[in-house]
Amino acid sequence: MGMAICFKCGSAKSGALVACRGCGAAPQTDNEYAASLALSEHVSSKEQLTQYSHELRNGERLSVPRKALAEALDALKDPQLLAMLRACMFRPGQNGRVWSPMRRPDRPV
Ligand SMILES: [Zn+2]
Repeated sequence: MGMAICFKCGSAKSGALVACRGCGAAPQTDNEYAASLALSEHVSSKEQLTQYSHELRNGERLSVPRKALAEALDALKDPQLLAMLRACMFRPGQNGRVWSPMRRPDRPV
């Protein structure tokens, strides 16, 4: 998975669709999915991501070209890519939900 930045605050995150550790934002709508993907290495270069991050942090207008958004929207139609991105969203242990065995009365095993 390539690097990505948050579409709200510009913090770096590990995948396009994961929730941001800085502001907690995760993409919900198609537009936000497309923006998130455009703000990732799937569609943009590292240099561009640095630039977008700078813009978001300074409250400037994002200079993401329409072409990148169109590419992102196209990419979202690819079921394989979607499956991969989704797989990255739901990592075990996220949201504090960690599998644990049923509690048993203390007993020597
Ligand atoms: Zn954020």
